[in-house]
Amino acid sequence: MPAGRTLGLGEAEVSLLRRRKAVEAEIVGVPAASPGHPSEQPCSEPGCQAPNRVSCDYRDRRGAPCPTAWCGDHIVTVNSWHLCRRHASTVQALAPVEFRGQLPPPDLDNRSPSLASYLAEALDSRMRAALTVLSRPASGERVGTEALALVTDQNRGRRWAQGWELFDNTGPLLRIDVEVDEARDPECALRLNSRVILRCVPPWIQDRKTAGPPLEGDEDARRRQVFYDGLMEQHVWPALVAEERWVRRWERTPNATV
Ligand SMILES: [Zn+2]
Ligand SMILES: [Zn+2]
Repeated sequence: MPAGRTLGLGEAEVSLLRRRKAVEAEIVGVPAASPGHPSEQPCSEPGCQAPNRVSCDYRDRRGAPCPTAWCGDHIVTVNSWHLCRRHASTVQALAPVEFRGQLPPPDLDNRSPSLASYLAEALDSRMRAALTVLSRPASGERVGTEALALVTDQNRGRRWAQGWELFDNTGPLLRIDVEVDEARDPECALRLNSRVILRCVPPWIQDRKTAGPPLEGDEDARRRQVFYDGLMEQHVWPALVAEERWVRRWERTPNATV
């Protein structure tokens, strides 16, 4: 397989970088049905006293191990790996690429991929519904999702993007992504057909930075939903409608007399 293969992605390019052998041995080399690596540390879940912890199997591209340990209730297993929640989402999102052996796993303290994939999951049904409204199934248009990908730009910037597409057999009409740039983390961006339409820091991350009091579980969940609804109504939907009109501007309509 060629090193540094690139795939077109709008104006940007996705570099599927060649992965280092040592890392491959660490992550991919965990034997099937492994019981995990026992740990003497307490479970990393606050307040959890459960016995029989195992450590998170994640190793970043420099080979540094994740320092967390988890009991049977709090560990997440993906294939034969035992992972903390953050690294489970990273590994799951990267899995299709990862198994091709080309992408270096992100650094341990790099939250960008998990934040991008968290937001994409949270917005998934809203995004697919919005694109479905704009689609013309009779013309063969369909809505699809794109897996988390590392996008590099000409300035060697690295951003993590996960998104959705409205496409037909000639290619995408609309492509929208949730992105987190490693240099701008925790700022997130929404990009529509290669143009950033919004940058923002999610309110719950903003709260942590300003040391505001943490919200109760229900209140926190409710506020996140309000944030997602606001994103869709005030930013995503108007931008999608305008962009759809633009990409279809040459199409004949019955009233196109002027
Ligand atoms: Zn636990
Ligand atoms: Zn971990």
